[in-house]
Amino acid sequence: MKIGVLGLQGDFREHIQVLKKLDVDAVDVRLPEDLEGTSGLVIPGGESTTLRKLLRFSELDQEIIARAKQGFALFGTCAGMILLSNQIKNDDKTDPLQLIDITVSRNAYGRQIDSFETSIKIKDIGDFHAIFIRAPQIVSLGECVEALSKHNGVTILARQNNIMVGSFHPEINGDVRLHQYFVEKMCIQSQPVATG
Ligand code: GLN
Repeated sequence: MKIGVLGLQGDFREHIQVLKKLDVDAVDVRLPEDLEGTSGLVIPGGESTTLRKLLRFSELDQEIIARAKQGFALFGTCAGMILLSNQIKNDDKTDPLQLIDITVSRNAYGRQIDSFETSIKIKDIGDFHAIFIRAPQIVSLGECVEALSKHNGVTILARQNNIMVGSFHPEINGDVRLHQYFVEKMCIQSQPVATG
């Protein structure tokens, strides 16, 4: 199976490495045509304002929205979660792609120095080591959104059908299980969607 990782900015290489460990054909996506034949896309952490601009220049934003509406699987982590959200509470300059019914707050856990690691529990996976780096927080979620993990009562991993988002970085702890969940539970059901 071929799965894309948005390679415009951020820590996309780490996601590609994890997917390769799962024997997935992981490709770096920078243009709409790079999505050809893929069954899903990971949107990595990085800087959401920069990523939003690059998505517009590349016209990948429209392609991702069109595919998502046909059931294409998306997994956004950290800045990727901000981009997929319906609304960003504390940033009115960045217009998110509005593909999952959550409102987020950027940098809600504090500055770089407040980045932290903790043990969490994920539904259907179990204990997981989560790393938060200038992480966004989900401040509200709609009824159609399922919370797959919470930390101190706050949802940190959520799914609405073909879209999954997480506040933390699952690609840098050597654990492949969350990517495996995305591949096996979300990408296999979504057939490759033609570019256009
Ligand atoms: N603080 C970044 C933002 O708001 C996200 C940080 C990350 O992706 N690790 O875009």
